[in-house]
Amino acid sequence: MNLMKSVQTYMGKLNHDGDLLNELTQFCQEKNIKLGRIQAIGAVKKATLAYYNQDKREYEYFTLDKHLEILDLVGNISIRDGKPMVHAHITLADQEGKAFGGHLAEGTIIFACEAVIEVYEGNDLVRGYDEQTSLPLWS
Ligand code: ZN
Repeated sequence: MNLMKSVQTYMGKLNHDGDLLNELTQFCQEKNIKLGRIQAIGAVKKATLAYYNQDKREYEYFTLDKHLEILDLVGNISIRDGKPMVHAHITLADQEGKAFGGHLAEGTIIFACEAVIEVYEGNDLVRGYDEQTSLPLWS
């Protein structure tokens, strides 16, 4: 087994009006966090998400242009093109409690967000092109 130990945890608030994916990515790159996990809750002003079409092998992007709660954001941090990369999925809810979700993309604007980032110690996980899925998976 290749177990990874959590060595550090950051917890804090992200910037109002920031782009959720970019804020998380920037933080990880600034702190040089190469391996870890992310969890967050809060609210967004609008969201841009993606769905991976397995037949076409491409992401289909969609925008939810309304105020939504972040019920959960869960993600991981690994290496792509030599830099820390955040891969996150998010579940959002509207004022009736209806949920939406998908792969977090740029264009999701923070109203408020409380994030926890756990840093792991271990071998780097590096993303590369995966033939079976056409996705940049861990090689
Ligand atoms: Zn994804």
